[in-house]
Amino acid sequence: MRRFLVDAALDAWSVLMPVSCAGCGAADRGLCPGCRAALDPQPRSIRLADGTSVTSALRYEGSVRHAILALKEQGRTDVARALARPLAAAIGTVVHGPVQLVAVPSSRASFRRRGFDPVAVLLRGTGLGRSARVLAPSAARTEQKSLGRADRARNLPGSMRATMPLDGRRFVLIDDVLTTGATITEAARALRDAGAEVVSAATLADTPKRSADS
Ligand SMILES: [Zn+2]
Repeated sequence: MRRFLVDAALDAWSVLMPVSCAGCGAADRGLCPGCRAALDPQPRSIRLADGTSVTSALRYEGSVRHAILALKEQGRTDVARALARPLAAAIGTVVHGPVQLVAVPSSRASFRRRGFDPVAVLLRGTGLGRSARVLAPSAARTEQKSLGRADRARNLPGSMRATMPLDGRRFVLIDDVLTTGATITEAARALRDAGAEVVSAATLADTPKRSADS
């Protein structure tokens, strides 16, 4: 019993105070100085096929990718604040005039699996305010069986819906990683169908193969 309590205490301690860098695995707490430096924002913008402009702070590779995955898949919320800073920089380059920020919601399956919504956590960490509660995943048509399928479901047309009429309201969409752009496109469609104007989108990172300003 005593041994069990010691183990439990050590487990709790390692969750509260991670002892390896979330970016490179080196013995450090949170993020080592090198990985922290890799989070200096380098914003670049692209335009999706639907006309939505997306500005991303970082490239999704190396220690940046590892740190984002550590937050999303290992629950390393200790790195959320460090990741929120470049996201705030990307948001700052696209917000002009009165707009509200909207975090692209997790699919229901992803939220159940993780127990939290990484994009909402990142947005809160920026200090720029919480996400407007206007976007939700549509009711699942069938229960998803695999994680891959669950993540893909977030991208399907019709997978998101506005929770209220949004006529005359202006929004900037926020997401963690831009890959194909299908998620942002679907979220923008849901907002526009409800009457909103989607001014722009900002993400923490984009995949490096994207060309800037294309
Ligand atoms: Zn590191």
